[in-house]
Amino acid sequence: MKMRIALIPGDGIGPDIVAEAVKVMGVVGTKFGHKFDYSFYLAGGVAIDTVGHPLPESTMLGCQDAEAVLLGAVGGPKWDHLGGEQRPEKALLGLRGGLGLFCNLRPAILYSQLSDACPLKQELIEGGLDIMVVRELTGGIYFGERGRNEAKDRAFDTMAYSVSEVERIVRMAFDIAMKRNKRLTSVDKANILETSRLWRSVVDKMANDYPEVAVNHMYVDNVAMQLVRNPRQFDVIVTENMFGDILSDEASMITGSIGMLPSASLRADSFGMYEPIHGSAPDIAGQDKANPIATILSVAMMLRYTFSLSKEADAIEAAVGKVLDARWRTTDIMSKGMRLVGTKEMGTLVAQQI
Ligand code: NAD
Repeated sequence: MKMRIALIPGDGIGPDIVAEAVKVMGVVGTKFGHKFDYSFYLAGGVAIDTVGHPLPESTMLGCQDAEAVLLGAVGGPKWDHLGGEQRPEKALLGLRGGLGLFCNLRPAILYSQLSDACPLKQELIEGGLDIMVVRELTGGIYFGERGRNEAKDRAFDTMAYSVSEVERIVRMAFDIAMKRNKRLTSVDKANILETSRLWRSVVDKMANDYPEVAVNHMYVDNVAMQLVRNPRQFDVIVTENMFGDILSDEASMITGSIGMLPSASLRADSFGMYEPIHGSAPDIAGQDKANPIATILSVAMMLRYTFSLSKEADAIEAAVGKVLDARWRTTDIMSKGMRLVGTKEMGTLVAQQI
């Protein structure tokens, strides 16, 4: 299979970690007989410095022409003084909106080898954690009408959802639940919000199409609590934009390993943008210290969700597991008795295990 991938290394550790992901893709290509066609594009601070805009048109056009995008990270102190539209992070919003990526997948996986990093009591996470948060990304209160009154002493933001907007994200969540343990928790605030009542009715209706999936509804405040009380009760969580923003951060933080977590932003036709959840870590950029695993696992998600290559995705995930079993660690996940390696060596170790 031939795959057209747009690569956006971005700023800070972005180039370091994307290079390791490309190394791993090279081995996957050789082993499974695929060809990856890469095109590199600018976005973020490096694009501001080079062409004066965080998201150049050539990047947008290049991504539209690709089948998937792999992004490192954008931003850094060098550009912190810039205002709104000129900030590096604008590139992310521009890409997500411009490419129509309405579905954000954030797996929160705690590898049993790293259970020490979890801030929760060990008995709560016995055997590891594996939660998938499916977040609606292009609607809700972040995109609704907002403003102030004339006196500027009152402000409002509006949360709105249409049935079709809810249907497309909920269908994604059911499809993902079918590929996992067939358990879906829909999160809302239906005791108060009308959008949540609409959301709930769509979920209930669609549940008829997926009789094998066990569905439950929970209020967002309860889920925030249950995630730290008993996280293993969750398999797939689906929710609207703002609730998903907060809950996906909470879920990933209970794994304690920011350098390990990938993410995907998708639309219905399988096109996707894949990136680690962490930022550009300017404090360790270019020092061979960054953990490349979140980006490498983002490649696994790309192969699984955009190209339906689950064997190849499994191979990458298994390789990461083997490297952890062999006690190799980058500084961020280092602990006593483990073997310290840099970014490049970690990439090589994972590639060797494919
Ligand atoms: P960050 O995720 O970059 O860093 C937080 C801490 O985690 C730092 O100590 C960093 O060294 C460490 N860390 C992060 N990723 C790591 C990795 N792969 N390996 C080892 N350690 C890692 O968050 P921040 O410091 O709040 O933000 C830095 C910059 O990144 C800011 O400009 C911010 O706007 C930007 N940012 C970008 C994205 C993105 O591109 N998607 C996301 C978040 C933040």
